[in-house]
Amino acid sequence: VTATEVVKASLERIREMNGLLNAFITVLEESSIEEAEKLDKNPELLKKLPLGGVPVAVKDCLCTQKVRTTCGSKILENFCPPFNATCVSRLREAGAVIVGKTNMDEFAMGSSTEHSAYGPSRNPWDTDRVPGGSSGGSAVAVASGMVPAALGTDTGGSIRLPAAFCGVVGLKPTYGRVSRYGLIEFASSFDQAGPITRTAKDAALMLQIIAGHDPLDSTSVPEPVHSYVDLLEQSPFPCRVGIPREYFSYEINGEISGAIEKAMDVLKKLGAEFVDVSLPHTDYGVAAYYIIAPAEASSNLARYDGVKYGFRAQTDFPDLMEMYLKTRAVGFGKEVKRRIMLGTYVLSAGYYEAYYGKASQVRRLIQQDFLKAFEQCDVLFTPVSPTLPFRIGEKVDNPLAMYLTDVFTLPASLAGIPGISVPCSMSSGGLPIAFQLLAPYFREDLLLRMAHAYQ
Ligand code: GLN
Repeated sequence: VTATEVVKASLERIREMNGLLNAFITVLEESSIEEAEKLDKNPELLKKLPLGGVPVAVKDCLCTQKVRTTCGSKILENFCPPFNATCVSRLREAGAVIVGKTNMDEFAMGSSTEHSAYGPSRNPWDTDRVPGGSSGGSAVAVASGMVPAALGTDTGGSIRLPAAFCGVVGLKPTYGRVSRYGLIEFASSFDQAGPITRTAKDAALMLQIIAGHDPLDSTSVPEPVHSYVDLLEQSPFPCRVGIPREYFSYEINGEISGAIEKAMDVLKKLGAEFVDVSLPHTDYGVAAYYIIAPAEASSNLARYDGVKYGFRAQTDFPDLMEMYLKTRAVGFGKEVKRRIMLGTYVLSAGYYEAYYGKASQVRRLIQQDFLKAFEQCDVLFTPVSPTLPFRIGEKVDNPLAMYLTDVFTLPASLAGIPGISVPCSMSSGGLPIAFQLLAPYFREDLLLRMAHAYQ
């Protein structure tokens, strides 16, 4: 088949399904066909490119040159960045064709994709339920066969959770493994882009393309990039698998615990040996994250003022302050405002030490928990979420319930270690269930190796 045929098939599927699922905010009908045609004109080159002609979807918080990038927000409804995010450029250089920008919680704040200014995405397995968030659109696009691969971003679980809820693979790389240049900031010390795919092998290929040092992001790390695809068979199978006992002391949906046990049996047959480990500060993860992430967000989002980025509430204002206030009042949604207020509060004089300072100390303790645990095991095995995909509307007005969905994904984000979500079963009601693997810094190869062997 030609690249053009493949891209057209992807666009056709998007046309068929997007009305129902709302996975895409923007579809690039014309430019993607043009690009595919260009690739087809150069068959020699096409053959050499690792992703030659592969349609890929990109979360709408990653900048795409001259293509609207909304971040799920009204305040960026007309924003067309003049440049590509580094991970987007790298995919394009590898021959990928970007077919569209996917739906997400506004500024990636959320766990269900319901906090999007462009309406919620729907879970393809049950359209009354959420696909998880914040990279819900990307997970839906892959799970419903619109594209074979997508980029998401993970600040506190936003790749792993929607991948789990939609039955696909989602990999959050080590903080610093993938350049953040062109990733619209939410919480800069957590944000990391990564692949959502159907298989671990596809995730390995995507990761080796987007990973690596970038002079445009000083937090990207100059560690050499592995050929993750080659390592799928070669790198040692992680035989010592740690079970963090604190993760299993939470109330977990019975069908999830059952599926998790079955997955453990499969891994055992593959050669895994399970060891009991402790991550004693797990309980404080949610609280620490929901102080530090909003603190960073309140600072990062100060730039949306009605002057830059296009959106302004109206044209005539009595003074500058009025313009800022109105534009932000109209441009941001409820959850974003909640985070800005929370973040501003925990950073304010008199409260900084008690909240932000304390949470930063807890963050370090959580990181040390992981370092200690990895002295006893190669990888950690956990659930991704304590619940199955919930109904649209069920948690949207209860921020605490929504935040608690992230209890198993947040600690790895606080520590900056890599994690993968691997689909393992279906509930009796036909909803996907997944497990999570976590590895030491820069050991994405172990995660991919084990996920690949499992699949
Ligand atoms: N659900 C978490 C939040 O709302 C994480 C989101 C993310 O990883 N972008 O902050």
